[in-house]
Amino acid sequence: MKQLFQSISIIILLFSIISVSGQNKGLKTITEKELRYHMDFLGASEFRGRETPSTELEIATLYLGNWCKNVGLKPFLPNGSFYQSIPISVTKVSTANSRLRVITEKGEETYYYEESFGGNFYTSGSCYGDAIFVGLGLVNKEKGWDDLKDLDLFGKVVILLDEQLPDNQFALGFTYSYRLESRIRAIRDKGAAAVLSIVNMDREKKKAEGQVIFADIPSGRMPIQYDSQRRGIPAPLAKTTDSPLRPNLPFFQAEISHDVASAILRVPKSEIAGMFESVSKGVQVPCKVIPKTLVNLNIEVKTTPATTRNVLALVEGSDPVLKNEYIVICAHHDHLGISDGEIIAGADDNATGTVALMEIAQALLTEKPKQSVIIAWFTGEERGYIGSHYFINNLSIPVEKINTCLNMDMLGRNNPDSLYLVGSDLLSTELDASIHKTNKQFGINLGFNYKYSNLIHPQRVYFRSDQYPHIRFGIPSVWFFCGFTHDYHTPNDILEFIDYKKMLKITKLVYLTAMEVGSKPKLLKLDVNPEVTSRGKHNLQTKSLYENVK
Ligand SMILES: [Zn+2]
Repeated sequence: MKQLFQSISIIILLFSIISVSGQNKGLKTITEKELRYHMDFLGASEFRGRETPSTELEIATLYLGNWCKNVGLKPFLPNGSFYQSIPISVTKVSTANSRLRVITEKGEETYYYEESFGGNFYTSGSCYGDAIFVGLGLVNKEKGWDDLKDLDLFGKVVILLDEQLPDNQFALGFTYSYRLESRIRAIRDKGAAAVLSIVNMDREKKKAEGQVIFADIPSGRMPIQYDSQRRGIPAPLAKTTDSPLRPNLPFFQAEISHDVASAILRVPKSEIAGMFESVSKGVQVPCKVIPKTLVNLNIEVKTTPATTRNVLALVEGSDPVLKNEYIVICAHHDHLGISDGEIIAGADDNATGTVALMEIAQALLTEKPKQSVIIAWFTGEERGYIGSHYFINNLSIPVEKINTCLNMDMLGRNNPDSLYLVGSDLLSTELDASIHKTNKQFGINLGFNYKYSNLIHPQRVYFRSDQYPHIRFGIPSVWFFCGFTHDYHTPNDILEFIDYKKMLKITKLVYLTAMEVGSKPKLLKLDVNPEVTSRGKHNLQTKSLYENVK
């Protein structure tokens, strides 16, 4: 009996060795111990939030590049460097000289930048116009909702509520027009001089508690400027409109506190709170022409040139022909710096992805696929995907040769057994299938959630990390994402909250997915979006990949 047991267990053991042979050696090098080791350094608050650009981000960049050299990775760039320098410019708004004035027959009141209003300003200038209030500023004619109906907005300063309709009102227009940016675009196209959005109740409350709510740009709000390498986003809308009404630049978009709103609308703050309450219930807030009220916005900025760097390494594929095709595995190593005196450490966002990528690179040195792998640590993701955008637009290889982009951004929080796959199923069924196959075959057994894998989700998650610049070129891409938490983009995103078991699972999954995809004899098929059937620059014109606008 004993002998029989032994031989059975030997057979089982042999079988399991055979079934995972190939990827076993590489997989073994990915350990929780090493994840913790690198996280303790790169996720530390001493990096002061790895702001783009900053000395601390440069130290992280050097650490990664130096590590690549030490472990024996090759540089991806033809000049033999691990570092890809990106010229950027940094714009600072003068708090003393930037102000908003409300002028009525009774006199005028002056409000100051950062204290009472804020915004993403990249040029100096001023504007002056009659105030008009447009409620939510939403237009969806098919659904019978039109806040701008019969309004003359030309040259006006338009005030609106920065709020969203409740989720159950998707039927009303679960489209891009839902978002603040697109509402502002529509108003701008009608010739408005400026749009002032009244901050939502949440942010107003924070302001009342003494927080500086205008010091940073609210996440997910930044329109994407793909035609400039500047830090941040001046006016992406200029290209896409041909409205004859649009006045000459500058056009201003600012956020205002309830104090300012109350002065312009001439209503008490409680009434403004009531308007937000209405919108949250899905009730339309009526427009209002405000008689004899002028708003003057005066902005002064100072712009200085700077540089920031990607770190790019290469693992050459094992097949002499297939090595000319590439898989990009990426993660951004920057974060948000310091806000209101507090360090936004970004342990989950995105020290986790940064460190996972180190472990994957190391595994690939042990066991690699037939196709080549580009290991990319991108800078400036939080400031508008600066690094990934620059990378994909300045390739030394044909973009058509990039098979897929596997992006890791936030891997260590939320449900230990579940993971959001964002975009894996939106361009190629093969990409999604490869992730599923790997997950099952190697017993990783994560449950996948596709909530954000949606072109028209109001949070636009598909468009919100470093996979997106790749998607614009028709490259099937996926963002491995643990999901948002209350600590997202706050001082509470710290090492103590990282789930290393979960992070380990995802790291293995991404490595094995690269092995699976990279060992296929052909590029992944583009078989989902009928508008995207081949990789390349021509996809930049593809509307569904740019925005979901009607
Ligand atoms: Zn991130």
